[in-house]
Amino acid sequence: MYSIERFFAVLQDIKVAHYISASLYRAEAKEKCLQCDRTMAGGRDYTRANCRVENPTGNSLPDFVALYGGGNLWSERVVALVQSKGLTGYRATEIELVPLLGSTLPVERQRYYAVDFTGRVEVSRQHFDDNLGQVCPACGTWRPTRGKVSWGDKTVAIRTDLGPLPDFTTGGNVRVGNHLCSRAFVDLVRDHSFTGFSFRPAARGLPRVDLANPSWFDTFREQARTSYPELLEE
Ligand SMILES: [Zn+2]
Repeated sequence: MYSIERFFAVLQDIKVAHYISASLYRAEAKEKCLQCDRTMAGGRDYTRANCRVENPTGNSLPDFVALYGGGNLWSERVVALVQSKGLTGYRATEIELVPLLGSTLPVERQRYYAVDFTGRVEVSRQHFDDNLGQVCPACGTWRPTRGKVSWGDKTVAIRTDLGPLPDFTTGGNVRVGNHLCSRAFVDLVRDHSFTGFSFRPAARGLPRVDLANPSWFDTFREQARTSYPELLEE
């Protein structure tokens, strides 16, 4: 039922080369959950939004900037490549960057896009929370049940037997609280040396992806096989 490929990577921002803080303004929720009033996954409208950037050094911005509040900014060269490769499960909206007082934006800066992850996948409840958390049936927003299960207790296992998987997702039946991406995207970032990206496996307890290692996936496969033999099928 499962295969190694379903251990999507989690997108992280820890490799930002220099200090950048970025906040989004006027991003409107265009699609809200009728049951719990939360914004649906991929339900933000960035068309009139802008992004305030604090970049005291004035150095070039990386290709990936994580936003306060959990969003993603990608440079136009990332968006262009993801588009040309036909990767699925995202929506990218060009966004205006505005320097915060005392900051400068590099003159040669590229255009940037706010990216929503819209792909849906089926997450195994058994592995995610043993059915102990509370899930909004309409939007999949998950909350821990006190004393039984908390964030990060268990692992994200995505079902692969239900048809093609998107390259970008935040979950589906359960919103997992992370931005997940496929192996294909990790390889793209690696091959093109895009900056600012860092990845760790969605499955808990496995080491961060070593982007300098050309056979990172083989290493990861071995580690996953050791840690999660019951989940894997070759
Ligand atoms: Zn809801």
